[in-house]
Amino acid sequence: MNIDQSQDSCIFCKIARHEIPANVRFESDEIIAFDDINPSAPIHVLVIPKVHITSLRATEIDDQMLLGKLVYRAKLLAEELNIAESGYRVSINVGKWGGQIVSHLHLHILGGAPLTTKLAVATVDESVPLTH
Ligand code: AMP
Ligand code: ZN
Repeated sequence: MNIDQSQDSCIFCKIARHEIPANVRFESDEIIAFDDINPSAPIHVLVIPKVHITSLRATEIDDQMLLGKLVYRAKLLAEELNIAESGYRVSINVGKWGGQIVSHLHLHILGGAPLTTKLAVATVDESVPLTH
């Protein structure tokens, strides 16, 4: 198998390959979902493709089906985790300003308690002009 260095060292690829432990909530050929190690809500699950895609930004037209499966899996997991009726959030952080730390595409499912209604916390560095 031709695994490049980034896939080899990627923490989420290692979880997908069962090389490091995680509390797995769902697994298929294409997708694995597991508890976030540092949860931001009582329920905090990450849904990832097993294939190493660095970010939503890196997806291409052929990834549309996979993206749909990831979102639909998040919906099914929310139901299984009993947070669907009360409500929950599914989010994808993209890039530096989007708060993405791990460079492997992942959806956050957050729920189990009322969530903040603020999606963006404005900690704008005045030295960096906002152009849009
Ligand atoms: P993001 O900021 O969108 O890149 O989110 C990355 C998430 O991955 C964070 O919420 C981390 O707590 C979580 N995380 C990092 N390492 C692990 C791990 N080994 N197992 C589970 N979750 C992890
Ligand atoms: Zn990866």
